[in-house]
Amino acid sequence: MKYGRTYNFSAGPAMMPEEVLEEIAAEMMNYHGSGMCVMEMSHRSQVFQQIRDEAEADLRTLMGIPENYQVLFIQGGGTVQFAMVPMNLMKNGLACYVETGVWSKKAIAEAKKYGQVRIAASSADQNFSYIPDCSRLDIPENADYVYLCENETINGTTWHTLPDTRGKTLVADQSSMFLSRPCRVEDYGLIWGGVQKNVGPAGMSIVIIRKDLIREDLPAFVPTYLSYKTHADAGSLYNTPNCWAIYCCGKVFKYLLRHGGLEAMAARNAEKAAVLYDFLDQSRFFTGAVRKEDRSLMNVPFVSPSKEQDAAVVAAAKAAGFDNLKGHKSVGGLRASIYNAMPKEGVEALVAFLAQYEAQHL
Ligand code: PMP
Repeated sequence: MKYGRTYNFSAGPAMMPEEVLEEIAAEMMNYHGSGMCVMEMSHRSQVFQQIRDEAEADLRTLMGIPENYQVLFIQGGGTVQFAMVPMNLMKNGLACYVETGVWSKKAIAEAKKYGQVRIAASSADQNFSYIPDCSRLDIPENADYVYLCENETINGTTWHTLPDTRGKTLVADQSSMFLSRPCRVEDYGLIWGGVQKNVGPAGMSIVIIRKDLIREDLPAFVPTYLSYKTHADAGSLYNTPNCWAIYCCGKVFKYLLRHGGLEAMAARNAEKAAVLYDFLDQSRFFTGAVRKEDRSLMNVPFVSPSKEQDAAVVAAAKAAGFDNLKGHKSVGGLRASIYNAMPKEGVEALVAFLAQYEAQHL
């Protein structure tokens, strides 16, 4: 690693591609002859408008977003979307949620403030270590949408096949897998992702919403800022947006396009995750926490034989240059987040370290 950088396994904010950080650094003092840094720029200027427009255009190309979908850049991170989704989409006041872990539970708790929530399926019975069978969901006729967290960052599960929503609108939180693999946008009514994991700096979400779901007739209590229509009508420039995040995300979109797009990312991510999972599968000291078929390629939770050992491994790993391997406080153990920007060498080096640790402590 250049610049004395560390292999950072944080779940987010997380590593960004070095190539992108270098470009940003080179443009820091004077962006394209504008005489200013993007942080200092008016969001109403032509130069920023171009940054914003290119970011959207590149994202559309990357994901193959159809014309009848709107792309929105909204401040506030993922937690704001837990509220915006029910506020904007609950017309009949009823939605189905699939409960797969910490982040879908947060979404459920928030949605309950605005309407009725039906848990269509859950993996709570086994500590959220798997994705429940959703081939025959019981979805009421008047349900407004079916919601899932497509990659549970803390629990380490991912959906490899989407559920059958019986024609109801599918809403997905893609925060921790956004742009990690190809995605058929047409299968969803709304996709949203906080960008601080696989794309850029914290404090913004990208929302991709089918245009017919953008409502004019929202209840009066919905704050102006929390209406998707506000952002759609203003091209995500209703107020001062998170200019810096839009700029950095735009850089990452260009980087992904240069490096083969989402197909190439998916292949790289599968290869990378296999290095770690193959190690865990044969280890007699470390154990993966998730059912094999449902394992995330982005977040890999695992445990050692005891809590004390978990803490000792995390400390030894940090001293050896592998940072942020502590599992989330709600589940414990260890977790390696290996988003797009984590190089394969980082995962290989981690596995070599864990193998050596095992040999010394078994
Ligand atoms: N959804 C998922 C899947 C997440 O991993 C997170 C953050 N870790 C959130 C939502 C919440 O995002 P934020 O912290 O930006 O509010």
